[in-house]
Amino acid sequence: MPREGGPDALVQRRGRRETWDTVTPPGGIAPGPGLPGGSEEAEEAEDPVHRGTNLPRMEEFNQTVILDTIRRDEHGLSRAQVARRTGLSAQTITNISRRLIAQGLVVEGGGITRPGPGRPGTRMRLNPTGRYAVGVHLDPALLTCVVLDLTGTVVASSQRSTPVPDQAHDAVAGIVADIEALLSGSGIDRDLVLGVGIASPGPIDVARGLVLDPPHLPGWHQVPLRDEVARLTGLDVLLDKDVIAAASAHTWTRTWHDSSDFAFVYLGTGVAVSLVLRGEVLRGVSGNAGEAGHVVVDTDGPVCACGQRGCLGACVSAQGLVDAFVAAGLPAPPGVDRSDARQAYETLRAMTRAADEGDERAVQVLVTAGRRLGLGAVTFCDLLDLDTVILGGPLWGLIAPHALPQIGPLVEARHVLRPVHPVEVVGSHLGLEVGAVGGACLVLSQALSPRTASLLLG
Ligand SMILES: [Zn+2]
Repeated sequence: MPREGGPDALVQRRGRRETWDTVTPPGGIAPGPGLPGGSEEAEEAEDPVHRGTNLPRMEEFNQTVILDTIRRDEHGLSRAQVARRTGLSAQTITNISRRLIAQGLVVEGGGITRPGPGRPGTRMRLNPTGRYAVGVHLDPALLTCVVLDLTGTVVASSQRSTPVPDQAHDAVAGIVADIEALLSGSGIDRDLVLGVGIASPGPIDVARGLVLDPPHLPGWHQVPLRDEVARLTGLDVLLDKDVIAAASAHTWTRTWHDSSDFAFVYLGTGVAVSLVLRGEVLRGVSGNAGEAGHVVVDTDGPVCACGQRGCLGACVSAQGLVDAFVAAGLPAPPGVDRSDARQAYETLRAMTRAADEGDERAVQVLVTAGRRLGLGAVTFCDLLDLDTVILGGPLWGLIAPHALPQIGPLVEARHVLRPVHPVEVVGSHLGLEVGAVGGACLVLSQALSPRTASLLLG
């Protein structure tokens, strides 16, 4: 059964090492000495929920159940309310609550609740400053880092052009530098950092923490990104695919929509779609679900590298949109290499301003992009009976003002189940930080979710 964080997504500092011969230049970042470690502990972290039923493990499991219950109510819960919602005994709640408070994970106070008969109880809520999680989004064009507190609120963030995206070592050095700058700049106690969640372009090897051969990261080949960042920061690190992380951000922080069955359309250097059913992000066999770049949405559309016409990736990627602007008669800045992700993104940013300023040719390019996205969204909604489509990613903010008004009406007019229920189409509230927030949410999920308890319950 799929679950957030994926099987053994979290690597401990003692985690498995990979050679990196193919990308290690002389003098560059090289794998350090083998880290001490025990595969026994690593295996234990892989699937703690389904291991053993002895009392200590059950107590640990119950602790995450209680934490998860408390976190889902922003107003806080009394012990009696927690007992009712979890089915655990009052004594168990009392014992575990005492431990959670001592660990700084939960605080009391802020109101008395009288949920019914019996004594009033003091509310317990997550202690925002009790722990933190770092999220990193490695997009070929933009590198984004965030720090979330225990409630999932962004407390610090940074963003810049990805340093030398075709040189893995430089990119890794940039990621580590940004993490360190963010942590030192925010004054957060490093001991309170649960870990780092990295959202990366796919395909990736989730189990081994490798970035394999992403089409938009030339020069990357089986890069042990997870273990390198763990080694260089000394923090626990997990690696997940960008679109899966971004979708996970919307399952963890569901404060502005209440759907459990939705599609998340990711628009970055590449295009991907993550599907969420009953609150679970679908991961697929290898954790690489979401490839939607070659879904055909317009048979008269531009020719894709795969040979088809009108693939989603060819229509709404940065390069594809810049090509469409040029074809519509808008001048591209001279000397731009559109195959370079950073240049394509910056060029698109400049060219979408023409649409914002009312250039009808530019507006039509983005209107067409919106319709094509809408046609793709209809396919996913019909297939899985979804009620919500969320769009986000680094590119989304650039095209949203003109594309979003096209998508909702098109989906509503065409989806087969419209007599049964509507489909809501919204832009993500997380903006450019969606992937990084998702990476950090996966860390929080591993720490607080009763399904995976490896961080706090080692
Ligand atoms: Zn294609």
